[in-house]
Amino acid sequence: MENQISLDTNLSTNNTNSEKTVLKGLTLDELKAYFAKSGEPRFRGEQVFNWMYNHLVTDFFEMANLPKVLRTKLKDNCEIMTLEYVESEISSINGTKKYIFETKAKNKIESVIIPEEDRTTLCLSTQVGCPLDCKFCATGLMGYKINLTAGEIYDQYVIAAKDHGKDNITNIVFMGMGEPLLNYNATVNALEIFAQELTTGISKKKITVSTAGIAPKIKELADKNLNVKLALSLHSCFDDIRSKIMPINDKYPLKQNIDAVKYYARKTRTRITFEYIMLNGINDRDEDIEALWKLCKEFPCKINVIPFNSLKHMNPSGLSAELTPTPLERINEFVQQLRDKNITVMIRNTQGEDIAAACGQLAIKYNY
Ligand code: SF4
Repeated sequence: MENQISLDTNLSTNNTNSEKTVLKGLTLDELKAYFAKSGEPRFRGEQVFNWMYNHLVTDFFEMANLPKVLRTKLKDNCEIMTLEYVESEISSINGTKKYIFETKAKNKIESVIIPEEDRTTLCLSTQVGCPLDCKFCATGLMGYKINLTAGEIYDQYVIAAKDHGKDNITNIVFMGMGEPLLNYNATVNALEIFAQELTTGISKKKITVSTAGIAPKIKELADKNLNVKLALSLHSCFDDIRSKIMPINDKYPLKQNIDAVKYYARKTRTRITFEYIMLNGINDRDEDIEALWKLCKEFPCKINVIPFNSLKHMNPSGLSAELTPTPLERINEFVQQLRDKNITVMIRNTQGEDIAAACGQLAIKYNY
């Protein structure tokens, strides 16, 4: 879905019956254009941008440096928030906190705060559900409903930051429900807002877009010069296995995606992360270690190894029902063998097994 915001609202009139213009999700340039078109000075756009995205203000009357009359016009004609808080759950195991938010269209989405030793990461959703049907993923079981707007993506941050403390969120990942690069325009707009110095204070190096591998869009994102980090959900170095667990691999096979991430790394001078979910007997064999090593020695990258949370309690069918987690002992051995070959490997948090750990699982109970 393209950005839903129309720039047609005339702030000089009182908007009585038409829908209000949603300002959240407009980039700095779009906000300046909006105010200019409404007969206001362009710098009002910068002021409103700063209030909405940096100070996380949700009421026009708190925008203290705007004239009172303008604040009233904005209240009559525009809206700020796109999401409402529904509920949250905190894991007693590792402090992971899951939020459920509701869009204006009454769809439920999920965001997660993941505390780790050296960072606290907020994981954002970009779609309601997901069309890609990865066999290890709870969101994949849901199917696809609709794309989120840039405002709905950013408002997950707004609500979580207000709840958890803005300074306590150190990293952002676009890795929740949905494939960000299949909602490209909204994702790029949200990234542009995050990347502005006037907003979160989180450096671009700590913002990561995670993709299942939409090769042409990876290159397009590289050319945007946003220079955020990129993670590829790799999960296997073999096309036949990857296609079984990630059907999108049939459309964009490994070679296309590896070429695209190499391009991304070169263009943005960033290190690529490969996400690797450990599936018993499927991608945790010695030949998988060998293939990962061959791939990773070619260019600057690292591997995030993720223990798999079984989906069995969701009664999936087909391959999803057969997948089991690699035992912890084998995960440690797998990681050690890669480290012995000088590959950087991290083992990532399992996200709180007591609170519907797999991505999308909590939201599913609302949507289906
Ligand atoms: S892993 Fe990501 S891309 Fe794959 S189905 Fe789940 S949300 Fe979609």
